[in-house]
Amino acid sequence: RKFSDLGIMDQLCEACTKLGYKEPTPIQTEAIPLALQGRDVIGLAETGSGKTAAFALPLLQALWEKPQAFYGLILAPTRELAYQISQQVEALGSEIAVRCAVLVGGMDIVPQSIALGRKPHVVVATPGRLLDHLENTKGFSLRTLKYLVMDEADRLLDLDFGPILDKILNVLPRERRTYLFSATMSSKVESLQRASLSSPLRVSI
Ligand code: AMP
Repeated sequence: RKFSDLGIMDQLCEACTKLGYKEPTPIQTEAIPLALQGRDVIGLAETGSGKTAAFALPLLQALWEKPQAFYGLILAPTRELAYQISQQVEALGSEIAVRCAVLVGGMDIVPQSIALGRKPHVVVATPGRLLDHLENTKGFSLRTLKYLVMDEADRLLDLDFGPILDKILNVLPRERRTYLFSATMSSKVESLQRASLSSPLRVSI
């Protein structure tokens, strides 16, 4: 199978080819068609499975159809993962000029506020720093958000981001698509899923 067989548009297929992705990985083959049908998706997959492109490609394709600032938010448990995700989103979105901002703790907050002022399409963030920006960066809100991704949800919850996630979820528009990816399914992940996804389909590899 090819990315185009999954419904991925030409510019994104081209980016995949440039990145050396010859064919979709199993999680991509499972998740992408469901996401393109407009469903919320729960993906059970480990790092290395190609999960980032599994959620990034449908998000980028939707963005192309209706370009808009602050379109997608991707939450990650760690700074390193947030940077890796943004690199992949930018590489996959290179043909469609996507703008990405990274909001992570332990880094100077001012350059991040400046990046938000440029109205990125996609924000990749760790929960604590995102909340900080929502509370303190003038003019920043996620009212136009259409896609939420929670990556490595099990680690997000292990790191006790639960209460912060609740606060973030409270200010996000309910009319949105949500993807949750996790290596494991715990009772905490199940309750996060119930609180944040609507009629999700589950895929695992
Ligand atoms: P991830 O599981 O998202 O962290 O991805 C692991 C690695 O696989 C990353 O370096 C990706 O660039 C790469 N990758 C993702 N999708 C594919 C694919 N379809 N073919 C080859 N490599 C891929």
